[in-house]
Amino acid sequence: MDCEKAIHRLYGYLDGELTEAKRREIARHLDECPPCAQGFDFELELRTVIASRCRDEVPARLKERIARAIELRVGPEEHGA
Ligand SMILES: [Zn+2]
Repeated sequence: MDCEKAIHRLYGYLDGELTEAKRREIARHLDECPPCAQGFDFELELRTVIASRCRDEVPARLKERIARAIELRVGPEEHGA
């Protein structure tokens, strides 16, 4: 497995969408490839923080800001005529 594939599958791994065999494949790549392992650690940490924050406190303001940010991204690209 090369790094690009490994990174790609990391997201499935984090989301729990992979089979046991594929998880093991990725785990082996991470063992042999420090850069990918680092990226994985970061991603895992980030998700843990986000997950715990969302569970503990869901500030209405933050929700609003996120919703607005998404709207801005999805909305039409008008940068003032
Ligand atoms: Zn790698």
